[in-house]
Amino acid sequence: MIKNGTYIRCYLGLGSNLSSPLQQLAAAVSAIKQMPSTKLASISPIYQSAPVGPEGQPDYLNAVVAIDTQFAALDLLDHTQAIEKEQGRVRDIRWGPRTLDIDILLYGDETINSERLIVPHYQLTVRNFVLLPLHDIAPTLVLPTGTSIKDLASHCSSDGINQLEGVTLTD
Ligand code: ATP
Ligand code: MG
Ligand code: MG
Repeated sequence: MIKNGTYIRCYLGLGSNLSSPLQQLAAAVSAIKQMPSTKLASISPIYQSAPVGPEGQPDYLNAVVAIDTQFAALDLLDHTQAIEKEQGRVRDIRWGPRTLDIDILLYGDETINSERLIVPHYQLTVRNFVLLPLHDIAPTLVLPTGTSIKDLASHCSSDGINQLEGVTLTD
């Protein structure tokens, strides 16, 4: 918990490509909503994306949510990892298929480089399945480095990604 009970705006990247990905994302949103000391602020559209890493795994569904949390960054990571675990996440193959991945993309405007946590997420600026939904919910966002999400999203590749029509995650 942070001093003074201040709320910090954070963005979480969600991804799933196993065991009914849409239900996994919906369950993740519901669990995030129930996190103590945290308010769910917005939810992006859902994107379908080609897998990164080992070939032969199913496509992913991805989304980004904005939250306001009173948790310190590592406490937030404990909570997001507990939700992953609750939804059956097993860490075996790097970038292998998974029921649920929750990455902390941004924690306020902080830069964190600890053993367990790197923020902004180290791949944030190069992953279209993160940049596009992040831009959808935070079009005026500027990263701690000074780069705008608008710039990054407008220049990222649209290879292998499309927004799912007619399906949304609701709170
Ligand atoms: P990638 O990080 O390339 O998206 P991944 O999400 O599959 O890969 P995980 O297995 O979910 O990787 O996480 C591996 C470790 O990354 C975790 O144990 C966690 O401590 C660490 N980590 C570092 N920075 C972050 C972050 N910003 N958000 C979530 N986990 C992070
Ligand atoms: Mg990840
Ligand atoms: Mg992860």
